[in-house]
Amino acid sequence: MDILETKRIRQALDRDAGNAFNIAVIDATGSTNSDLIAASSTLPSGTVLAANHQTAGRGRRGRNWVAPPGGSLAFSVLWNFETMPGGLSGLSLAAGMAVARAVEQCGVSSVRLKWPNDLVAPRADGWAKAGGILVEVTGPAAGPCYVVIGIGLNVALGAAIAEIDQAAIDLSMLGLRVSHNQLLATILNELLPILRQFAMGGFLPFRDEWNRRHAYASQAVTLLGEGRLPIQGTATGADGDGALLLETPDGIVRIISGDVSLRRASLSQS
Ligand code: ATP
Repeated sequence: MDILETKRIRQALDRDAGNAFNIAVIDATGSTNSDLIAASSTLPSGTVLAANHQTAGRGRRGRNWVAPPGGSLAFSVLWNFETMPGGLSGLSLAAGMAVARAVEQCGVSSVRLKWPNDLVAPRADGWAKAGGILVEVTGPAAGPCYVVIGIGLNVALGAAIAEIDQAAIDLSMLGLRVSHNQLLATILNELLPILRQFAMGGFLPFRDEWNRRHAYASQAVTLLGEGRLPIQGTATGADGDGALLLETPDGIVRIISGDVSLRRASLSQS
């Protein structure tokens, strides 16, 4: 089993990331996001908490995130923005881009981004989810803004794939050739410049690259939201705030993240 170790992660960080991030690894916890949120007032910006086993990982709105021990990379980053950057909702898209860049460096080039917070890869029957990002805001409403960025990546799901109620895939099926420690460090190396640039310019500087990595570009999709009518259209891409632009018969509709889920058109699951 591939065990996370602080020392090995630190060895693989570049100098900037080594200075910016303070890494702690624990054997097991419910959710690294919940742990960092609970302790956020006492921890410095740049604290990273990684767990070898995350037993109660969360997706959006408390949905369950499956993370088998040793088969998943699960960690969270606490980050402080001096002033709330405009359009904080673009942050999970920007963070997803850091992960996509990193997994590419680690040998997996087929991962694409699914709006707003997933990493997906192709299977014979369509896109399958390889990872997800959960950004949560914590701390006082006024003044500096504290965010916790949770990243869950499927490395080798094994039998746990059967517990997941939508198409899932893992990085070992896609050619990953590095250890969990190296993968985590590579993500942090990519995440740091993105966080710094996001603080200055929000999502806009990342829009074009995100759109190049967009899994559903020009595809017919359905946006599903609880208690709302589904919206059908062609996904054109993200705008400068990280909203999804959908071409519909009534014109371009701008979807802000909220709690909507994107699915391939004509299928309830994809
Ligand atoms: P969206 O597709 O818009 O992100 P979602 O329904 O996928 O919405 P999330 O909150 O992003 O919701 O993720 C949680 C969901 O992801 C779970 O309800 C489950 O369907 C799926 N899931 C849980 N664990 C995994 C995993 N390890 N790999 C892939 N998918 C998972």
